[in-house]
Amino acid sequence: RFITLEGGEGVGKSTNMQFVVAWLEAQGLEVVATREPGGTPQAEAIRRLLLDPAPEEKLHTDAELLLMFAARAQHLAEKILPALERGAWVVCDRFTDATYAYQGGGRGIPMERIAALEDFVQKGLTPDLTLLLDMPQEAAKQRLESRLRDQHSQRDRFEQEQADFFHAVRNAYLARAEQAPERFALIDAHQPLTSVQATIRNALAERVAL
Ligand code: C5P
Repeated sequence: RFITLEGGEGVGKSTNMQFVVAWLEAQGLEVVATREPGGTPQAEAIRRLLLDPAPEEKLHTDAELLLMFAARAQHLAEKILPALERGAWVVCDRFTDATYAYQGGGRGIPMERIAALEDFVQKGLTPDLTLLLDMPQEAAKQRLESRLRDQHSQRDRFEQEQADFFHAVRNAYLARAEQAPERFALIDAHQPLTSVQATIRNALAERVAL
């Protein structure tokens, strides 16, 4: 089975990713944990191109979209599909819903163009379960700012984007969840971590039981 974890910046995706993987492993399942953009050496090279451009470089939005799907094609062929075929559970930190949210909602690329590339690259493959971590934008921003202060981490190009960009990303994610309610588990990530993880555990337990 194929599980994806989605959400905007600062919603606690990394912590909950670890929780999902640990919980599935505790059920005795083989788990392949991976991420997008990236997941294989070549796809990680594309990720670096997308996330760490030189300051004077500007990537065209269509180029950004195509690189996202180029990385995904490689990731699917080399890692995700072989893992699913041998019966492993794949847990992916971001997948195509992120493309609809960031390149579609955020950058304004028409959703139909993304859907055409999705058909081309995925040939019908979609996640069995998508955990969407959602919280009000102001709360996410505060979490993100304190994290950046603590870690002195470098903000990448995406994290410097304006508030309206993140607003559009969040709305696009929520619209995706509304269109496919049976695939999505919409999780209020503004709750205490124990409640968030209880909700995630319930969503996973339903799938494991199938
Ligand atoms: O998930 P993670 O935080 O590692 O993603 C790295 C960055 O890539 C994020 O800041 C996100 O904004 C950006 N991204 C994007 N479009 C995607 C996937 C990720 O802009 N389709």
